[in-house]
This record gives sequence, C-alpha cells and structure tokens, in this order.
Amino acid sequence: MDTIAHWINGAAVPSTSGNTSPVYNPATGEQASLVGLASVAEVEAAVAAAKAAFPGWRSTSLTKRAEIMFRFRELIDANKLKIATLVSNEHGKVVSDAMGEVSRGLENVEYACGISELIKGSYSEQAATGVDVYSIRQPLGVVAGVTPFNFPAMVPMWMFSNAIACGNTFILKPSEKNPSAVMFIAELFAQAGLPAGVFNVVQGDKLAVDTILEHDDIAAVSFVGSTPIARYIYETGTKNGKRVQALGGAKNHMLVLPDADLDMAADALIGAAYGSAGERCMAVSVVLAADAIADELVAKIADRIPGIKVGPGNEPDNEMGPLITAEHRDKVKGYIDGAPADGATIVVDGRENLPADGYFVNPTLIDHVKPGMACYDDEIFGPVLSVMRVSGYQEGLETINANQFANGVAIFTRDGGAARKFQFDVQVGMVGINVPIPVPVSYYSFGGWKASLFGDTHMYGPEGINFYTQGKVVTSRWPDPAQSTIDLGFPSDR
Ligand code: NAD
Repeated sequence: MDTIAHWINGAAVPSTSGNTSPVYNPATGEQASLVGLASVAEVEAAVAAAKAAFPGWRSTSLTKRAEIMFRFRELIDANKLKIATLVSNEHGKVVSDAMGEVSRGLENVEYACGISELIKGSYSEQAATGVDVYSIRQPLGVVAGVTPFNFPAMVPMWMFSNAIACGNTFILKPSEKNPSAVMFIAELFAQAGLPAGVFNVVQGDKLAVDTILEHDDIAAVSFVGSTPIARYIYETGTKNGKRVQALGGAKNHMLVLPDADLDMAADALIGAAYGSAGERCMAVSVVLAADAIADELVAKIADRIPGIKVGPGNEPDNEMGPLITAEHRDKVKGYIDGAPADGATIVVDGRENLPADGYFVNPTLIDHVKPGMACYDDEIFGPVLSVMRVSGYQEGLETINANQFANGVAIFTRDGGAARKFQFDVQVGMVGINVPIPVPVSYYSFGGWKASLFGDTHMYGPEGINFYTQGKVVTSRWPDPAQSTIDLGFPSDR
C-alpha cells in the first residue's frame, strides 16, 4: 500500500517517523493508502529548507515571481480534472463539485499573478522640505498554513498563492484525511519553476501542528478548521509571537421572507444544504422560514430531495457523495437520532435507504427546530437542513445575531429595502442577497465574525496580502550641502 510522503525542498520525501495514518475512500469505506505523519525532526527539516530558500525568493524580482505564478496557473488549469479526481477519491465529493473547488482555488492563483500591482506602496514627495516619505510592504519570512479536510485543494490555494507571491516561503500541513491533491499541486509548482524550498508540505497530525506553532523560525500561521482547534491555534500561535489568522466553524442561516420566490429559494437551499454532503463551511444548515410561507417552503424542499442523486463521487451522474469518515457519519446520524426527542420533526429521514458500503447519509430535512436543540446549537457538517419558523424579518435577524457562529448568511426576498436593512444589521462576515453561498471572489477577502474567526485578518484578497507582508515606511532626504545646518529641535515637517 502506498504511503504518501512530504514535499520538502522541491522533492517528495518519505516519512521515516514510523507513524502513519490510514487514508480511506469514503465511497467504499476501503483503505486507499497511508500517509506518513511527520516527526518533530521532519517538520524542522521543512522549516530549514524554507528558511534557506527565503533570502533568494524574497530577492527574486516581482516580474519573475509573477511569471512563475502565471505558469503555475496554466498547469493547474490544464490538470484540473486530475486534481479534482484526487480530491474526490479521498474526500468523497462528486468530481463536478471538486472541479468547482479547483476553479475557486485557481482564482486565488490568478489574483496572485498580479503581485506587482498588489504589493505597491505609496510615495509622498516633499513631505517636508527636501524630504520624501514612502511605504513598502515586505514578506514576513517562513509562514505556515494548516488546512481542513473539506477543501483539500482550494483552502491551501487561498493561503499559499498570496503568501508565496509576496515573497514568503511556505510550509503547508494539510488534513491527514486527504493529503494527495496538494502533493500533486506541489509537483506542478516545481514544474512552473518555483525554486526548491519555497513551497513545502509536511503531512502530519497534532505533533506537526504543535511543532509549527512553537517554531521560532515561523513568522505567521494561517489556519482553517473547526472552532475549538482554531481557538487553540490562535492562542498558542500568538503566545509564541506569531501573526495568526484562524478561521473556525459555522452555522449558516438563510432567511426566507414571505415575498421571496419560493421555488428559487427551494432550489438554492437544495444546493446550499446538500452540496458536498453539507461539508462546507458556507453550507446553509438552517433555513429561517417566515410563518406565512413556512409550510409551502418545507413542502417544496421535501419535494426536491428525492431527486438528488447520491452515490460515489466518481460516477458522473451523482450529485452528492459520502461523508469523510465512519465516525463523522455516525456523529451526523446522532444529531438526526436526537432531534425528535428534542421536539423537532423529521420530514425527510436521511438514515434510510443507504448504500451498503461507504460513509453515506442521505439528505435530511428537520422541521420545527429551535435554539437549545443539539441539531441547532452545534455545527453538524453533514447533509442535514433544519427549518426554524420565525414570525418575520425581526425574529429572523435576532436569531442569526444571537448565534455564536457568524461565517455566512443569506436572505431571500424581492424587497430591496429589507435586503439593504439586513446587510446593515446582520452580524455576520459574508452576506448573500438571493445568493445562498456568498463566498467572496478572490479580489475580496473571506472570513466570518465571532466564533468563526480568531484574529483580525480575513483570508485571501487584499487582507491576505496584508497578512503576509509587513509595512515599512522610509523617510528620506538627499543631502543638499547648500542647506546644511545644525538643529537640535524635534524634526518639523512645516
Ligand atoms: P479540524 O479542526 O479537525 O482540522 C483542521 C486541521 O487542524 C487539520 O489539518 C488537522 O490535522 C489539524 N488538527 C486537528 N486537531 C488538532 C489539534 N488538536 N491540534 C492541532 N491541530 C489539529 O477540521 P476538519 O474536520 O478538518 O474540517 C472541518 C471544519 O473546518 C468544520 O468545522 C468547518 O466549518 C471548518 N471550516 C471552516 C472554514 C472557514 O473558512 N471558516 C472553511 C473550511 C472548513
């Protein structure tokens, strides 16, 4: 059985730690490979390679860096299907969805191709007599990213595209559940001409992450994953003097007002709740249905569910694949098991008619859900949509704003005034108006509020460029012997 290696200093390096973790095909439940888990020494070897590569890479011209990013962009685009297939095999999502993931990741590579423009500073001539002031942004050094299982290609691209284009060198610690896609991406980066040591992958678990968090030579850490781990990464990383951005879990609501187009809302909910089996941090897991239209909306969602084709991700007709592991499948089922006792009603039960193999849960719809029930309070991260009935806009807004998570949210309405008010009032980082999954394009930044984000910088886009660079301001005077005097006063700019 293959053991997936690290990528250090421009080459695949097998782990010699003796620790491994199984990688499964979630559609069959069969073990597909093993991944070697890094020892402290293996992480240190990657950091040493990245540290050695940094002086050369930060000195590489912007034109040359952009040229490599453009070549990398072409290689990702040409190999989209191969990357998507690697993702699907280990994650379970259907290949068409994985293709979407690669495309959204690629947007970040494309954004980073514009590094010459993105990293520009500003210049003020004659700030004082004969004095010019200008700002520049410089890379931080060796930076690291720790990523979740649910977007094994896209989330790493969110991070390393900008980090590397800014002149940093990078250590990626992907999820141990699906480590293959980034190994292939590392090969493509090398083919594009990226010097050895600029991009490194260490496979691993908590030991690798802790080594990153404590390593003196790592300047910054980007993290995407669950809220408890995001909090831990933020607290530990900052305690060790690192710049940290840590994106956590989510519970995304969609508020449907009585004037909404209910067919459009139901169609949108099917994709947003059940796409990728609900394993998206921007999945809609709660619909807040105004009482006046709740029965009709629930009926429209329930009518559509039997049409969703569930099965292995590599069969082209399928629209929804399995969950990531047997443990996660059992956890998701547990939330469905517990809902009736909490007072909710199961309208469509996804525990029924399951394929014999693999980690499947079918699309599930639960009605009459309320705060205080486990299926509402926790992030389920599965194909389970809860319906909460609300009197109207105000109760819907208050429910959303009372939730601990604040990643994404959507409102469906034809009333522009209500949508405008919602955008103003809602305490959530990413808002959709008749758009169910409002993932920002790569030239804006991605991030939630409250327990969905630890740190003060969102990911990618302009905030990503800021995160991976530090500002320097230069105040400069070229001596003019004719004006030289001695002055002990505080320098004045008037
Ligand atoms: P996770 O938190 O279990 O793991 C994320 C990463 O942290 C992995 O690389 C893992 O190896 C590492 N890790 C796990 N436990 C650790 C520990 N104790 N100490 C140090 N490192 C540890 O998350 P996951 O299950 O891989 O991904 C799903 C979660 O990610 C969901 O909660 C989802 O909402 C969230 N997510 C959030 C966003 C966002 O943008 N906010 C995006 C994608 C996923």
